[in-house]
Amino acid sequence: MPCDYNPELQARLSMERDKAERDRLVAQAKKAKAEAIKKLEGYLNTGKVNVGKTAQGEIGFIGWNKADRLGFCDACAVNALKLKGSIAFISALARARTVSAVELAGGKH
Ligand SMILES: [Zn+2]
Repeated sequence: MPCDYNPELQARLSMERDKAERDRLVAQAKKAKAEAIKKLEGYLNTGKVNVGKTAQGEIGFIGWNKADRLGFCDACAVNALKLKGSIAFISALARARTVSAVELAGGKH
């Protein structure tokens, strides 16, 4: 189940009869996710968050707190950053020399 799956949103959508309102809810959720990724890029730029190994020994974002994640796990955030060709992510990755892009691609959801 990807992090994009939002049970609360799905429940609301199934109850909402108005298509325009459903579209609005989906767009709102999409925007919030995009903003969470944008915020993460800002953190990577300032060094508040770094790419590295987590306490569990997995590849992830060190210093990215739960509130800012909006439900994103590390692997899904990596995918989102790759998809948009994020310069902030590429730079952070270059700084974390021990971490290869291959390792990150293999991160589990
Ligand atoms: Zn995920």
